[in-house]
Amino acid sequence: MSEVSPHSQPILRPPAALGVIGEGQLGRMFLQAAQRMGYEAGVLSAKESSPAGQVAHWSVMGAPDDLAALRQLAARAQAITVEFENVSAPALRWLARQGKLVRPGWKTLWISQNRLREKEFLQRYQIPHAPWRSVRTMADLGGLSDGLGHPLILKTAASGYDGKGQIRVERAQDVESAWSRLGRVACVAEGWVEFAAEISVVVARGADGMAVTYPPGLNHHERHILDSTVMPAPVGPIVALEAQELALGVAEALGTVGVLTVEFFLTVDGRLLVNEIAPRPHNSGHLTIEAALTSQFEQQVRALCGLPLGGTDLVSPAAMVNLLGDLWADGEPDWEAAFRADSGVKLHLYGKQTPAAGRKMGHMTVLDPDAETALARARAARRALTSGHRRGREV
Ligand code: AMP
Repeated sequence: MSEVSPHSQPILRPPAALGVIGEGQLGRMFLQAAQRMGYEAGVLSAKESSPAGQVAHWSVMGAPDDLAALRQLAARAQAITVEFENVSAPALRWLARQGKLVRPGWKTLWISQNRLREKEFLQRYQIPHAPWRSVRTMADLGGLSDGLGHPLILKTAASGYDGKGQIRVERAQDVESAWSRLGRVACVAEGWVEFAAEISVVVARGADGMAVTYPPGLNHHERHILDSTVMPAPVGPIVALEAQELALGVAEALGTVGVLTVEFFLTVDGRLLVNEIAPRPHNSGHLTIEAALTSQFEQQVRALCGLPLGGTDLVSPAAMVNLLGDLWADGEPDWEAAFRADSGVKLHLYGKQTPAAGRKMGHMTVLDPDAETALARARAARRALTSGHRRGREV
């Protein structure tokens, strides 16, 4: 299944043209890393003035499966990566057939863009994960409650993110109506996991099969959306090592080239279960921009270009807090207030013009010798963004 060819390993040196499919903040930060290193970096994007489009050296407008747009991309870029997993496998295969370096390759995306295929992959490679059943027909609903117990979670196999397309089902008699609410599409039914923490590990794997990982990050979600990450996760050296080994195992089994993130549940009895695989940089790795020797986006560039990967040591423990559109509810956040509150705060805004509840508009990172203090400082800086708003409302 490996994307690694044992034969020629082309190295793309600056100023080669690199393209990313997808217009969001992950594409933007990939482009920024690539441009810093001297590459001609551009985007295939369906929208004008997107987060990635705003910073791209060049843009091709179109949907990721639009053949005319793919032709233009192939004419423009020597190597192509993606910023999200829902790019069609045929599109990536077509680009690879045009002689382009396409990393990650279509097989990695094909597995990770569908929860059923992802679970089958984990099962095949005996990588620990939550108990699950596939749901494709009414008949599949029958044994779910006995097999998985309650609560269980029904998740659509395709196109779910940030908790969308999933329903927690408390009782056997509610399984059918939950499946109906999800549109009776192919689903994964998962047993409920009593977790003590959610952690993630970002891996970078090169074209030569060499792979490196960052320390695990501890993730806190609010309303199913990532709220904060602390790195290194305070889970102790043994769990940290196990998580890194499992994540490396996932990358190796997929044979992926590029950056890959593995999200885990750490159960109350100390086991690690893989929850999700993202074949790309991840929100929980954004703090590597300031906190690590090499950022996850620079690793994406290096892996794409066949360069040796960079060191993953942390310069300092760090915390990242997301800035969701909710912060704009009473007007523009007060950026100066955050900087006044803490001179160490690093602000990243993605250039999105319309804030909406739950929409990721940016993030802030704080480095501190103590990871918990980093998180407290990042949260305090985020509160400062709207503390004037609240005072304004009170008068
Ligand atoms: P996912 O989209 O699969 O990452 O799920 C979003 C969030 O829902 C996770 O980060 C967990 O907080 C929660 N969740 C998902 N699956 C389970 C499960 N099997 N047991 C407990 N919580 C879950």
